[in-house]
Amino acid sequence: MKILKPVCTKKNSLQIVTLILVLILTGCSWRKISETQIPVKKTRNIILFIGDGMGLAHLNASIDVSNRTFFLERFPYSGFSKTYSYDNYITDSAAGGTAIACGIKTRNGMIGMRPDSTIISSIVEIAHKHNLATGVVCTSAVTDATPASFVAHYSSRYNYEDIAKDFLRGTLDVFIGGGEDHFRRRQDGADLTNTLKERGFSVAYSIDDLRKSPGQLAGLLAKQDMPLASEGRAGMLEEMTKKAIEILSRDKDGFFLMVESSMIDGGGHANDIKYVVSEVIDMDKTIGVAKKFADQNGETLIVVTADHETGGLTITGGNLKSKHLEVKFSTSDHTAVMVPIFSYGPGAERFSGIHDNTFFLDEFLDLLKIKSK
Ligand code: MG
Ligand code: ZN
Repeated sequence: MKILKPVCTKKNSLQIVTLILVLILTGCSWRKISETQIPVKKTRNIILFIGDGMGLAHLNASIDVSNRTFFLERFPYSGFSKTYSYDNYITDSAAGGTAIACGIKTRNGMIGMRPDSTIISSIVEIAHKHNLATGVVCTSAVTDATPASFVAHYSSRYNYEDIAKDFLRGTLDVFIGGGEDHFRRRQDGADLTNTLKERGFSVAYSIDDLRKSPGQLAGLLAKQDMPLASEGRAGMLEEMTKKAIEILSRDKDGFFLMVESSMIDGGGHANDIKYVVSEVIDMDKTIGVAKKFADQNGETLIVVTADHETGGLTITGGNLKSKHLEVKFSTSDHTAVMVPIFSYGPGAERFSGIHDNTFFLDEFLDLLKIKSK
């Protein structure tokens, strides 16, 4: 071992004096900073938005044709999520939803299951086990792949009637979307809404019913998927989300809510930019509802992302003044392009950078200070 002897020269005496001076000065300023620092807020509630099929161009086009600044433009952090699945470079919404909800890559088509068909818990189930209130809101049937990934466990996303049964497992306090047929017009003849009512749920079939519902709530607002924003649904996702937050926020232990703008994907598959834009605008207005609550509440994190991009959309020309855009879709299917992440509220800084779509769960659990087991 080489021992360094202290050597005191004129030069390093000066350095020592300088160092002491620096320490005194910075020591003073440290105290000043720490005295004025705002205490870091706890993340008590999480509201996760998933825009199904929403790539950067979908958002870009929607912002550019809109007459207002998007709520999303006020989110301080942004990042990217890699969406590939366990068995396919191009994911579907089942594997994409399962990655976000359960923190694992699985096979396309699978809901809440590992690639070997074993069951894996979702953020909703873990949060419920730790006494948080939980909710899922979407514009598709609640049994569709994205919401189902948070609630159900099946090797096929198309087992809608089985998936509906998993909504009786009691892991959700609020679910609102379409899908009445999967609960009431079933092969087995059962009416699952009777079971829900026995367990204390209000069952709502319209926005009016929804407004009157006092507590635990099953909103089945359409037989299958809800209508498009451009076909009379505009504004409903805002109402649904507002109601869900109103109910869930009564829980002193906090809540987890997933809100899906389900139809952006449909616009991408149809290569229809007007369809895409109307759905993205509707989603951003709903983000505004969540942001208003988060601003009042102070302990709510909002994360906005997508399960994958749909349509291979790009913007090839246009005019910001006339709000006319020239766009091109390169496929009618999903693509492998990374999707954006935006975050707001306590813990938001964790969601910047490039991540795999499996990273959300661990961050959510860590921020909520709960464990998966
Ligand atoms: Mg979906
Ligand atoms: Zn799709």
